[in-house]
Order: sequence, then structure tokens, then C-alpha cells
Amino acid sequence: MHIRLYNFLPKTAVEGPGIRACVWVQGCPIRCRGCATPEAWDESGGIEVDVDALAQEIVSVPDLEGVTFAGGEPFAQADALAELGRIVREFGLTVLTFTGYRFEDIKMSNCPSWQELLAVTDVLIDGPYKQELADTSRPWIGSANQRYHFLTERYQYLQKDLPNISNKIEIRIRPNGQILVNGILSQDDLSFLLELRNAHDVRRKRDT
Ligand code: SF4
Repeated sequence: MHIRLYNFLPKTAVEGPGIRACVWVQGCPIRCRGCATPEAWDESGGIEVDVDALAQEIVSVPDLEGVTFAGGEPFAQADALAELGRIVREFGLTVLTFTGYRFEDIKMSNCPSWQELLAVTDVLIDGPYKQELADTSRPWIGSANQRYHFLTERYQYLQKDLPNISNKIEIRIRPNGQILVNGILSQDDLSFLLELRNAHDVRRKRDT
């Protein structure tokens, strides 16, 4: 079985509780205004990888707490993610899944792969991104309409801790100068990134 990926990080501290791998799938039919990753919308973009090979890579990463499925739209590739989730859970990892659909609609659907993906998910964060409700005060979430659903016992404790968890971002600078950012960005983060990019551009021009 294959999965079409937009991005993958074997280790991140800003895409859910604890240290996690993060799988961003390619393709999203929801297309929210103001989406931070419109380049992940096209179903034919990204790269195709084997689910078993990706699972083996994830479970070989030391000290991981779990895996986050983000996008793009994870439920558009529910078959492959349900299989990936099933394998990593056998190794004791947890699964956090983002979706632009509403939990109630997923639960009511008669799509078997949607139910299978729900069944391997510990925490579901649901709802489309709404630009007019932009709110970065809650961890991992970009707009006020989005909700946490604790589907297993694993992260029930988080319900009361959520107000004490702040959003963070990670910044990686590749040798070729490309700046990669993940996590939920506030307006201050955006301003800081612009300054960082400008400083980086100036340094590269000076050094060439
Ligand atoms: S569901 Fe997520 S990936 Fe899809 S358009 Fe909305 S914010 Fe972007």
C-alpha cells in the first residue's frame, strides 16, 4: 500500500504532545481560505512512499511518543493512514490526527476506511481552518472553531492541561539556505521569520 506525502519529519516537538514523527499527506479537497499549506492541496503533487517502509522508519526513531497525521487532508488517504496507524500502535506509539472535516460527519459516514482511521486515533483535532476565527492561543490549533476529541484514555489528562500548553514553532535552515518552519505561527512568529529570512539573504549575498 502507498501513501502520497507532502512532508515528513521523523522527530518534532511542536505537532502534538511529546516528541512525535509527523506525516503531512498530499492532497486536500477542503481548501480553506487562508490555509497555511495550499501547496499540499494538489492530489497529484508530493511523493508516493510505501506505507510499510514509512512505518519501519518511524518505529526505528528513538524516544518517540507518537505520530501526528496532518495535511493536506488525512481522511483523503484514510486507508493508508489507518494501516500506518495500526502498525505504529503495535510498537506502543500514539496517533494524533488532524482533519478539516467535523468529527460528527466522520462518525456518521459509511466509509469503512474513515472508521478505521478513527479507530487508530487517540486524539482527533477536527474542523476546517477559518481565517475569520484565527486563534493561536490553544496548542497545535489555528482557529477557534477547531476542537480536540480524546478518543482513547491515552491523553485524557491533557483536557485540563491544554490551557497551560503554549504553541511553539521549529525552524530548520538547510545547507542550501532553504528555511523550513513547522508548528502554528502567530503574527509575531511571522515577523520574526521575515527578519530571519532577510538577514539570511543578506549574509548569502555577502558571502557569494
Ligand atoms: S483542511 Fe487543512 S490542509 Fe485542507 S485547506 Fe483546510 S487548513 Fe488547508
